[in-house]
Amino acid sequence: MWETVAPFREAIDAIKEAGGGASRLCYQCGLCDAVCPWNRVSTFSMRSIVRQSTFGLAEVESEDIWRCTTCAKCPQRCPRGVETVEVGIALRRIASGAGIVPAPVRIVGASLAAEGNPLGEERKKRSDWATGLPVNAFTEQTEILYFPCCYLSYDPRLQKVAAATAAILNKAGVDFGILESTGCCGESIRKTGHEGLFKRLARDNIVAFVENGVKKVLVSSPHCYHAIKNEYSEFKVNFEVVHISQYLFQLINEGRLEPARAYGKKVAYHDPCYLGRHNGIYDEPREVLGKIPGLELVEMADAREDSLCCGGGGGRIWMDTPRGERLSGLRLEQAIESGADVLATACPYCITNFEDSRLALPDSEAIEIKDITEIILEVI
Ligand code: SF4
Ligand code: SF4
Repeated sequence: MWETVAPFREAIDAIKEAGGGASRLCYQCGLCDAVCPWNRVSTFSMRSIVRQSTFGLAEVESEDIWRCTTCAKCPQRCPRGVETVEVGIALRRIASGAGIVPAPVRIVGASLAAEGNPLGEERKKRSDWATGLPVNAFTEQTEILYFPCCYLSYDPRLQKVAAATAAILNKAGVDFGILESTGCCGESIRKTGHEGLFKRLARDNIVAFVENGVKKVLVSSPHCYHAIKNEYSEFKVNFEVVHISQYLFQLINEGRLEPARAYGKKVAYHDPCYLGRHNGIYDEPREVLGKIPGLELVEMADAREDSLCCGGGGGRIWMDTPRGERLSGLRLEQAIESGADVLATACPYCITNFEDSRLALPDSEAIEIKDITEIILEVI
């Protein structure tokens, strides 16, 4: 059903106010649709969403405004500099303000508000992943705060990545600690248009950082990296933030970590959208893998700036996508075609989606899915 979110002029102003004003620059060339990964598995038109926004019309009840993964592929290509991702988020802000939100996002929002994580888990169990591991609580004297995201804290598959990270940091003699009083970074819920909830989550983390004297934050998730580096600065704070792929590169170069054992497998590296296109980190993860003896690094189709989104950004990690339309399924096909034994990446959403699609393969043993920390732990 086509709906006018408000009579024309008011709607145009509402979209502008919500961050979608750049849509007027669009000349409807359709390049955004040509590069959008959704059009490889189904049909979706960002061009049409931008068009609707220009005229103050929006189908806010449609599933379409929730489709964009904010992968940043189309704004990178738009010849008119339209901030397409912002236009889409602006419509979601209007929809969520009107209470028109997909059920999974509503449930996640309630969990984030009550427990500070999207997984319906208890806040007090956030640090349970570290029980029995040599991981200290952060104090003012600790050099680095390790900030594992909600998925690494609670999800059994991703807890292995948190444990691998802690083991590597200990092996390299890094002075790090964790803070139980932190919660979700808020990046993905913001992209679903829930600005107030994002601000609350961000403020809670900033207060915890400041009260505990945090200066440097090490993250495993590109989404946490993006939030703390680029979005928390809106609160007039500035923390040094490092993604684990950058930090591994540094530790190896400083001689604090030595990938000495051979890893005789072909590895394809997948660039997560929020590490690559959103933050320009393409080389360090490849350099880290390239330092491992015996490891053969292969490139898939759609690498680096052209990377194929896993389908998990923009809150899509919480929404259901029919099996035949999953971008992660397409990415696995590309990885297998490249001859890789292992699909490596550096993002919890990518791992979640790839593991899910791996289980749907006719032979689920055809390829392994690994975070780069899990590979490094095997060779040091
Ligand atoms: S690529 Fe840019 S100018 Fe072309 S249709 Fe998309 S938003 Fe409009
Ligand atoms: S940001 Fe990515 S998913 Fe969203 S419309 Fe553009 S290309 Fe498609």
